[in-house]
Amino acid sequence: MSLNHVQRRIPVPISCEFFPTATEQGGENLAKVRRALAVFDCEYFSVTYGAGGSTQERTLKLVRRICEEDERPVMPHLTCISATYAELEALLDTYQSIGIKRLLALRGDVPPGSFYMGELDSAADLVQLVRKKWGDTAHIVVAAYPEKHPRAKTPHDDLEALKIKSEAGANEAVTQYFFNADAFLRFRDEACAMGIEIPLVPGIMPITNYRQLARFSDACGAELPRWIRKRLEAYEHDVEALQLFGTEVVASLCERLVKEGAPALHFYSMNRSQAILAIGRALSWID
Ligand code: FAD
Repeated sequence: MSLNHVQRRIPVPISCEFFPTATEQGGENLAKVRRALAVFDCEYFSVTYGAGGSTQERTLKLVRRICEEDERPVMPHLTCISATYAELEALLDTYQSIGIKRLLALRGDVPPGSFYMGELDSAADLVQLVRKKWGDTAHIVVAAYPEKHPRAKTPHDDLEALKIKSEAGANEAVTQYFFNADAFLRFRDEACAMGIEIPLVPGIMPITNYRQLARFSDACGAELPRWIRKRLEAYEHDVEALQLFGTEVVASLCERLVKEGAPALHFYSMNRSQAILAIGRALSWID
């Protein structure tokens, strides 16, 4: 079957997020993961940006590597917390020099042990900085939180923050992951009612490991619904059953979101391909 034929079965653009690896071997493994995910003809690959200095260098290294090895646009994530204008501008110049046109602009969280808040106040300031430096051709993506950012006082705060970021010049938002489609749909309706016109792309987390997922969900404020949690607990020592269940749950979430008009899907790959491939197969998007 030709790649074109496969592509026609995938109803919306797919993108995948990776985090920078610490070792050579990790880099090689990730290259294999990217090759395996080529079957989705991803719209772009994104690379997370860590809080500390060495992880920030690794982001740039992975971005460069993907640019060199894959025929795929890359979207670096960039946080402005604890950074100076000069540091951010230097990094934006470097990205521009290697052909990057898409960026995920974030405020970020203060790194543990750091008290310096940085020179920019918010993600919206970073959006403005990128727009000023890269001009109209930049495709600026921002974060959105359908189930409430853990530190936001109310869900409305998140909508307000999104509105400010969209008015500052963002082109699109990718959401924190969620398992409750209604949370996303309500958030999208409320955003629309507030005049937020940028596309909202659902962030999708494959389910592969109960403890890790529970830890992440607690930290980022994504709800792991009780009915899912209880089954994952029961399957904790049966990897195959857990993965089958996880594939079914996430595939049906993707199916519903696409049916409800999600413009694209962004997968948090956790640097693995198997679970995303299984979801694609369950939906008959790929063989
Ligand atoms: P904003 O848009 O400024 O805020 C989002 C919401 O959080 C608003 O409602 C705001 O009011 C509320 N909020 C945030 N902080 C506070 C506070 N202190 N008090 C009260 N309310 C608050 N982080 C990384 O470090 N690296 C990454 O690569 C990365 N990638 C991400 C990718 C996606 C798709 C998403 C959804 C998140 C990502 N994050 C990443 C996490 C992100 O940095 C944090 O969620 C951060 O706390 C908020 O950044 P923001 O740009 O969304 O902030």
